[in-house]
Amino acid sequence: MIDSDSPGNFPPNTAHTTHLFGNYGRFDRAFLRGEGCWLIDEFGVRHLDAAAGIAVNSLGHAHPTLVAALRDQADMLWHCSNLYHIRSQEGLADRLCALSFAEHVLVCNSGVEAIEGMLKLARRWHFERGNPQRQRVITLDGAFHGRSLATISAVNDPKLTHGFGQLLDGFRALPAAADRAALLSAVEEAIAEDTAAIMLEPIQGEGGIVDLIDLLPDLRKLADDHGILLLLDEIQCGVGRTGKLYAHEWAGIVPDALATAKGLGGGFPIGAILAGGHMLDGLPAGSHGTTFGGNPLGCTVANAVLDEVADPLFLAKVETQGILLAQALRDFAAKYPDRLLEQRGRGLMQGMRLNPEWKSSIDAVRWLLEAGVLTVPARDNIVRLLPPLIVLPAEIELLIGKIETMLTEA
Ligand code: PLP
Repeated sequence: MIDSDSPGNFPPNTAHTTHLFGNYGRFDRAFLRGEGCWLIDEFGVRHLDAAAGIAVNSLGHAHPTLVAALRDQADMLWHCSNLYHIRSQEGLADRLCALSFAEHVLVCNSGVEAIEGMLKLARRWHFERGNPQRQRVITLDGAFHGRSLATISAVNDPKLTHGFGQLLDGFRALPAAADRAALLSAVEEAIAEDTAAIMLEPIQGEGGIVDLIDLLPDLRKLADDHGILLLLDEIQCGVGRTGKLYAHEWAGIVPDALATAKGLGGGFPIGAILAGGHMLDGLPAGSHGTTFGGNPLGCTVANAVLDEVADPLFLAKVETQGILLAQALRDFAAKYPDRLLEQRGRGLMQGMRLNPEWKSSIDAVRWLLEAGVLTVPARDNIVRLLPPLIVLPAEIELLIGKIETMLTEA
């Protein structure tokens, strides 16, 4: 048990020795406790969390409803396998379908697993229709879909693929386009006999908070016209982050399938594929599975997350807070144009594009960390602001104040 002032079982590692692989570029902090939008490090210093574990802690830290749900479930049953019915998994699927376009759900453990499953679903769905050649998935410049071999093969990013040898065939990663019209034409030109689907994030996260929602109606039409699928990766932008439960709702379109994770578990590892009614035979008996996916702990927590996040009043608050934050960033871009070039994003998925001649996004994230605020860097010299969705107006004000201090002083 870690009490409020104790460093717990793991004392501060001031020598910075570790047996862990060096694959993560870590910032120099270790957190022991969280309360709402605050994280307390091993020296007792409080930090305002505008990273939320990269859009994961949708309800902040130690939310009483989630803690109670997890504790109650932990007393009853942790795991029993998909050999048996799991009522909380069925309940979660019913819930997700009632709240979205979906009629079928597969529950898994993470974002990348949801994408992998969705790619298999798309291929198998075409196979079941007598089109086994339809295997290739078109992806966009700046996309990020995870770190498995398939998902690094899916995108055009040498940072992800360097040194990993032979990649998987079956993707057509488009290069950067001059503008939206050029992007749409490139997608259309890329569609061929072997195309299975177009896959994209409605708002790219790692790619630098690039809002592609306006493109969705045209992409939906292209997919329909060519008999291919529209697959959405809402792993970062979903679960209330933009003020809708899923970001594509802003465009009024319906995808064929969607991958969700991160915020769905509020910090408990869980992911899911949501799919339309016509997709059922894409995952027939015995075609796919996972040991831990949809276990009672994860499903119970995700159900508790949805109790809060799917409430229209909750989503309206996210939207209002997002408008406040976006407006402040736009004002700063007007006031400090040689430092802050642009505000990007929707709801509580916001990005600040900094002038690289002034400061790199990594340095800005470090500056804010020293000032007690957690943020996340992204491509295009973007600093991402992804606070928990429960963030209070006063906490948004504090965040805005710290950002202005950085823009004026640093
Ligand atoms: N897709 C998007 C848009 C993501 O942001 C991420 C993670 O950052 C993933 C996929 C991969 O999810 P995970 O890290 O849970 O495997």
